[in-house]
Parts: sequence; structure tokens; C-alpha cells
Amino acid sequence: MAKISEILSTEKPTLSFEVFPPKTEDKYEGVEKAALDIATLHPSFISVTYGANGGTRRYTSDIAGDIAKNGVSSLAHLTCVASNKESVDEALKIYKEKGIENILALRGDLPENLTEMPKDADFHHASDLTSYIKSKGDFCIGGACYPEGHPEAANKDQDILNIKKKVEAGCEFLTTQMFFENSIMFNYMYRLREAGVTVPVCAGIMPITNANQVKRSIQLSGSVMPPRFLALVDKFGDNPKAMKQAGIAYATDQIIDLIANGINHIHVYSMNKPEVAEAIAKNLSDIVVL
Ligand code: FAD
Repeated sequence: MAKISEILSTEKPTLSFEVFPPKTEDKYEGVEKAALDIATLHPSFISVTYGANGGTRRYTSDIAGDIAKNGVSSLAHLTCVASNKESVDEALKIYKEKGIENILALRGDLPENLTEMPKDADFHHASDLTSYIKSKGDFCIGGACYPEGHPEAANKDQDILNIKKKVEAGCEFLTTQMFFENSIMFNYMYRLREAGVTVPVCAGIMPITNANQVKRSIQLSGSVMPPRFLALVDKFGDNPKAMKQAGIAYATDQIIDLIANGINHIHVYSMNKPEVAEAIAKNLSDIVVL
């Protein structure tokens, strides 16, 4: 399977999707099926998230391994907030055994009782995890970035300097937090490049397919919801089929505008919904050739 740094080295548009692992064994089969259905679309890669406290670690590596076995490059996330060097070594060993070559190195959200990582923690930031993974083998490592600024950052300039540290530590590509207003992304890309961050950046797009997701997404990401988007939720929020159609159309429109303006790498938060991934891939079939 290809390394994501190679996949993103082309100027050609790419389209990747994300799935999240089940919390319990009984849901495993359903998630695995969703991931493999998405794999049949031949996306550029599929990422698999990681439970912040590591509780679903085994499922992340199992699903990412299955995706790779089915001929699609997989990206397994790994967080360090509740980890130490020993548990990261163990995770890396399993990733290697499963044929996973790409890792998204993350700190993870701090537990509610902490405002920063304990002084004696092995890893304080994603950049620490990145350099550690780098020293442990031939993984291609990516990191997260935040067009609207990470909520803990003192300010957006400081946040970008911290992204630069992540790249200097060995991150070969970045994936953004979801955003719903493209001008925020265009501005962010300008500031990243001006700060000397030159690695490829995948724009994270979340198709909102039901009204409840709106509140959850704002809570999770703190993203600005443009009036044009909120009007759509107002109008169609009570009609699930119409909301799904409108949410997919909005995400498609966002993606086409990004690609038209030179942002060629698109990562869709497809949330274990193959039908949403398929609809978006179909809408873009002559724009992003998979
Ligand atoms: P960091 O890069 O460590 O940044 C955290 C804060 O510390 C920021 O404010 C930053 O400015 C600051 N900082 C960073 N480096 C330094 C430094 N060297 N010195 C000083 N300050 C620094 N969470 C999960 O639990 N599982 C997942 O699978 C997952 N996947 C994600 C995928 C993407 C694309 C994104 C955008 C987020 C994801 N998250 C996931 C959420 C993520 O874990 C949280 O946003 C978390 O709060 C920050 O993680 P990070 O890796 O960006 O941390």
C-alpha cells in the first residue's frame, strides 16, 4: 500500500474518507462492513480514528488493517494523552503487524480535570509523539491542524507556530478540523504557507446529514456555521431525507469550490456512512477521478 505522503505528492485532486471504530465488540461487524463498503469506492485513503483513552485501540488497528488488506491505503490515528512510551511501543508493534504504514499522530483531548498534560507525562504534545514514532520505524506520519485555531491555543499565530513544530518533528502532511466556510480555509492556507509550513494539507469536510449533528459538530469543533448553512438546517432539519440530500449537496459545493481554488486534497468525515461517501464520490466523479 502506498504511503500517504506519496499519494498527496500529486497535484491531482484526492478524496479520502474517515471511519470511527466501534465502542463494543457487538458493533464491530457493522463498522467493518461500512469501512469495506467505503473501500469499494477506491478512495485515495481511509482513516480510522482512535478512542481518546485508547479503549478502542484494538478496533482501530483491526479496521485499518482490514482496509489495507482490501487494497486501499489506510491511516490509523493514535493519541498520546493517556499513553506512555511503553503503550505507544505496543500500538506501533500492532500497527506494523497489521501492515499499517500511515499514522495520524495526535495528542487527544485533555480529560476534563486537566488544563495541561502532567509534567511527568512521556508526551505533552502531538509533536512529541511524532518525533517518537519517527524514531521507531518507517511510518508516514500526519498531524491535525485547525483553520479556526485550536481552542487551547493562546492565539492563532501561536497555534500556527505549534503546527510548524509538529512538521519539524516529522509530520509529512496535515488534516484540518472540519470547517463550513471556505474563506476560513483559504485564509488559513495563506497563513500556513507564509509561516513556512509547506507539507500537503487535506481539507476536512463534514457532510451534515441530520439536524442533531449540527449541535454536536459545533460543540466538537467550535466551527463557525455560516448563515447559508444554518438556513438549510432551518428549512430541512425536520425532514431527514431532505436534510441528508441538502447536507450532501452543501459538502459537495464546498469541495468543488476548494478544488476550483487550488485546495486539491479533500478528507470527508463520512462517519461510517457508505451511502454518504458514495453520493459525494459520485457527485465529484469527473472532478476527482478515483
Ligand atoms: P497538539 O498538536 O498537541 O495541540 C494541542 C494544543 O497544544 C494546541 O493548542 C497547540 O497550539 C498546542 N501545542 C502543540 N504543540 C505544542 C508545542 N510543541 N509547544 C507548545 N504548545 C503546543 N481525537 C481523538 O481522541 N481521536 C482521534 O482519532 C482524533 N482524530 C482527529 C483528527 C483530526 C483531523 C483532528 C483535527 C482532530 C482529531 N482529534 C482526535 C481531536 C484532537 O485529539 C484534539 O483536537 C486535541 O485537543 C488536540 O490534538 P492535537 O494532536 O492537535 O494536539
